[in-house]
Amino acid sequence: MKLLVLGVNGFIGSHLTRRVVAETDWEIYGMDLAADRLGDMVDHPRVHYIEGDISINKEWIEYHVKKCDVCLPLVAIATPASYVRDPLAVFELDFEENLRVVRQCARYGTRVIFPSTSEVYGMCPEPPFNEETSLLVYGPIHKQRWIYACAKQMMDRVIWAMGQHRGLRFTLIRPFNWIGAGLDTLATPKEGSSRVVTQFLGHLLREEPINLVDGGRQRRSFTYVDDGLDCLLAILRNEGGRCDGRIFNIGNPANDVSIRELAELMIDVLKEFPDLAPLAEKAELREVSAEAFYGKDYQDIGARVPDITAAREVLGWEPKIGLREALRRTIAAYVADWRAAREALDPAGGA
Ligand code: UDP
Repeated sequence: MKLLVLGVNGFIGSHLTRRVVAETDWEIYGMDLAADRLGDMVDHPRVHYIEGDISINKEWIEYHVKKCDVCLPLVAIATPASYVRDPLAVFELDFEENLRVVRQCARYGTRVIFPSTSEVYGMCPEPPFNEETSLLVYGPIHKQRWIYACAKQMMDRVIWAMGQHRGLRFTLIRPFNWIGAGLDTLATPKEGSSRVVTQFLGHLLREEPINLVDGGRQRRSFTYVDDGLDCLLAILRNEGGRCDGRIFNIGNPANDVSIRELAELMIDVLKEFPDLAPLAEKAELREVSAEAFYGKDYQDIGARVPDITAAREVLGWEPKIGLREALRRTIAAYVADWRAAREALDPAGGA
C-alpha cells in the first residue's frame, strides 16, 4: 500500500511513520516543512520524504494523490492559543488547504483518512461524546477559539457529503488529547503556545510556576500516542472496508482527569527521576483567569470524554496505557532530549 502523508513530520505523522516502517511493508510519500522529528527515518528506503509547504507545492501533492492508495492530510494548526491569536491562518490552512486536497482525493478515487478532532464536540453538555448522537456546541462568533472546531466540523460535513454524492472513500478520526514524545517543543517561547502537557513540563524544568487556567477544574481524557496509533493502523488496514464512511473517536475514557489533577500527577511522576526530584519538590501551581492567559476570545471546554464503542466494536481496539504510565513515557522522552540539549550548551556543567 502507498500512503501519502502530508505533515509527515508532525506529532502524529512522525509516530505513524515509525510504526509503518517497523510493522508493515507499506511505502510512505511524505511532505513537511522540516524533518527533525523523523530523524534518520527519512533515509529509510520505504520513506519518500520531500521538504515542502502544502500551500505552495501543489503539483507534487496532486501527482501523489493520484499515485497513492490512501491520503492522510495531517497538516493543521492545532494549538488553542493560535485559534484566538490568528484565526484566519487556522481557517486558511485547516480548512482551505485541506479542502483542496480532499477534492483531489474525490477526483482521483484515493481513500482519505481525515483528522477531525475531539474539539468538534465543543461544549457538548453530555459526555461521553458519541460520533453518531452528540450535539456539536460552540460559543458566539467573537469567541474565536471555536474557529478551529468549526473549520474541522465543516471539513467533516464536506467529506461526508462527498462520500454520499461523489463516491469518496473516507474515514474521519477524532483524537482526544493524544500525548507522547514530540507533541510540541519544550522551548515554546510563549505561554499557551503548546499543548498542556508540554507546557507544564517546560515550566517544571525551567522552575517556573504552572498556570492553572480558571483553577484547572476543566477535564480532559489523555491518550497515549501508541494506543492512538494502534487504532489508526487498524483503520489504515481497513479489513473488509469496515472503516469506510465511518467516524471514530480515538481516546482513552479511563484517563479522564481535571487539569489540576494532571499537574499534580506530572509533579509526582517527575519525582521518579532522581536528579529532577528537587524541581518537582519546588513546583508551584498558580491560578490564572482564561482571559489573562489566552485573551478575551477564548472559551474553554469543561469536560471531554470519548465514547469509544465504535472503535471497540468495529476494530476490536482498546486503549491500554494508563495516564501515569503515559506521562512517565512522555516525560522520559522529553527529559532525555532536554538533557542532551543542556549538555550540548554546557558540556562541563553536565546534568
Ligand atoms: N491549560 C492550563 N494551563 C496551561 C495550558 C493549558 O490550564 O498552561 C488548560 C487549557 O485551558 C485547557 C486544557 O489545559 O483547559 C488543555 O489545553 P490544551 O492546550 O492542551 O488543549 P485543548 O484540550 O484545550 O484542545
